[in-house]
Amino acid sequence: MPFGRCPVCGSSYHMSIGLPVDEWYRRYWPGVPVGAEVPGECIRCWIPLRVGHRVTVRVVPDGLTGVVSVGIEGVVSAVEPGKTALFVVEFQGAGIARGKFRREELWYVIGQPEVLKTTDDEPGAESERGA
Ligand SMILES: [Zn+2]
Repeated sequence: MPFGRCPVCGSSYHMSIGLPVDEWYRRYWPGVPVGAEVPGECIRCWIPLRVGHRVTVRVVPDGLTGVVSVGIEGVVSAVEPGKTALFVVEFQGAGIARGKFRREELWYVIGQPEVLKTTDDEPGAESERGA
């Protein structure tokens, strides 16, 4: 299995591919030695975030230093589109109830159930489980 290196968070990861490894490198990364790391965002950085997605804080934004900490988990409650989209994340048990983040400041939590688009305008739908 080839290894990828995420340009956003720097983590390296296995990639699952549908071709034999040497064929995959020849086709997509000509000139790169078979088995070498290739650049590409990891799944935690790549998945487009939607309302209802569980995320963890990867980088604390300037305005939230000391209020939220790296690794804390929250739920996306709104998306503000724009040149740089901002994601409103709600927290339980953090210093604040919610904060705004850019995509690269958040990690998608792997393994969560698929979020359907119809849940977008359902405030309060998230569970009350403690952190
Ligand atoms: Zn990443």
